[in-house]
Amino acid sequence: MTERILHNKIRCKQCQDVIESTHRHDFKYCGCGAVFVDGGHEYLRRGGELENIEELYEHTSEPLPLPLPRDKVLSAREAVLLKALFEEPRILGGKLSE
Ligand SMILES: [Zn+2]
Repeated sequence: MTERILHNKIRCKQCQDVIESTHRHDFKYCGCGAVFVDGGHEYLRRGGELENIEELYEHTSEPLPLPLPRDKVLSAREAVLLKALFEEPRILGGKLSE
C-alpha cells in the first residue's frame, strides 16, 4: 500500500460525529463512544462498533471524488483495504494493547 494518508477520519453513524486522527498516537473517540480512530497519517486504525463507522479517509494516490457520497459503494480494492483494517487484532471495549 503506497498511498499517503491525508485525512484519517471517520463518521460515527450513531452520533454523526466526524473524528480525525491527526498524528500517530492521536487516539480519538466519537461523542457517544461507539467508535474510534487512531494512527494519524501513518496507519488507519479503527475500532469499537465497526458497523457504526462511515469511512471518510482521504489519501493521495487513486484520487476519489471528495467528499465521498454518503452511500458510496466501495471498489473491490477499497473493500479489501477496509477488510484488512477491520481484521487487525480487534480492539473492543476501547482497550488499547500497546
Ligand atoms: Zn458516536
